[in-house]
Amino acid sequence: MIRCLFIALGSLTLFGQQTLFDPSIPQKPELQKAMAGVDARREMIQKEWVTLTEIPSPSKNEKLRIEYMKKAMSRVGLTDIQQDEVGNVWGVYKGSGAATELVFAAHMDTVFPFDTPIKVRDENGRFHGPGIGDDTGSLVALLHAFDLMKQSGIKTKGDVIFLATVQEEIGLLGAKYWLEHRTRKPTMFVAVDSRMGSVGYGALLIEQYKFTFEGPTLHTLASKGKPNAARGAARAILAINEMEMPASMPGGSPNLPVANVGTLGGGTVVNATPGKVFITVDIRSQEMKAEQKLVEDVKGIAQRAANQENLQLTIEAVHIVHDYSKALPKEVRLNHTIVQSTLAVTDYMKINGDKKAVAFDSGSDDHNIGVALGIPAIGIGAIIGAGAHSLEENADKASILLGTKYMILLAATLAGVN
Ligand SMILES: [Zn+2]
Repeated sequence: MIRCLFIALGSLTLFGQQTLFDPSIPQKPELQKAMAGVDARREMIQKEWVTLTEIPSPSKNEKLRIEYMKKAMSRVGLTDIQQDEVGNVWGVYKGSGAATELVFAAHMDTVFPFDTPIKVRDENGRFHGPGIGDDTGSLVALLHAFDLMKQSGIKTKGDVIFLATVQEEIGLLGAKYWLEHRTRKPTMFVAVDSRMGSVGYGALLIEQYKFTFEGPTLHTLASKGKPNAARGAARAILAINEMEMPASMPGGSPNLPVANVGTLGGGTVVNATPGKVFITVDIRSQEMKAEQKLVEDVKGIAQRAANQENLQLTIEAVHIVHDYSKALPKEVRLNHTIVQSTLAVTDYMKINGDKKAVAFDSGSDDHNIGVALGIPAIGIGAIIGAGAHSLEENADKASILLGTKYMILLAATLAGVN
């Protein structure tokens, strides 16, 4: 009888009931101590958030934050601190011997050029400053989470790695490099880079192409009725904006699929036709079929625009962030304990108030690389911000406190505690 019951329970776990969360975990004295510690150092956390935000760190030029994070990881007691060839930095929160490795990743790079003036403004309960939310808040929340775990004597069973990545904003390149060069694949991978409360387990497909239209360079006086590369690009831009999109995936993001013209340029003088005009197009969706169709449609549009204007067209793949042939099937990803446990912790902590947390088969953070490699991976957040990638970026000052507590309970839950 008991045996049968166990078998029944065992099979239940296959259908999405498997969570490592147990309400007794947050009741442990070490956990309680760590949570209280967050409130006690409220100002210290917020101050470091401002400090780190004001350190410029554009993709591929993250050197100042790399130095800062290495020192900070050592300050909070992480061990085996390392840096790889591309600039990723990581440290280990050593477990008591379980053969698992849980990774928490946040990215150091921002989309703002090195000379962007960054001075954080504190106004009406919000910090304002480019990069405050994406992804500086996560780095700071994680630093203090590990610090307080250590100081409160939280002993995890498995190892927990804090990974600060580079080049996230230009195609998740740091995380890709790190995961592909890691001999031991992580047991679970958590990217902290979204709005706190969302749990993404998906594989967003991203393809970016550059289309260059080429025609004659003719003086304005000789340009009448002649092929013009600018007109070709203009036709393509309008047609891409008006193209029919494949339907959104059921249960998926309503913002997808999507194709966006992100950069354009060309011409060298005011009084002649531009010999060359380029546009780049960023194409994103949640399903391979939709992605392939969109890519084909956009290429077709560009070719037709070039033909209509009698122009040469060159198509270059700028960046393709996917090869999801190794990704686990959707049902397996959704029902994996990393997702189910995170949902349980999110609800326990009322991160979304009284609304139950929902997991989404999407995301465009470092965890995409984990998903692509078949590693159980999610994207979550530790702060609540707005206006990411704009100079008006801002974030709720208090959100990082809840976020830091969230990281502590999640790390203890996923790595296990003694
Ligand atoms: Zn980000």
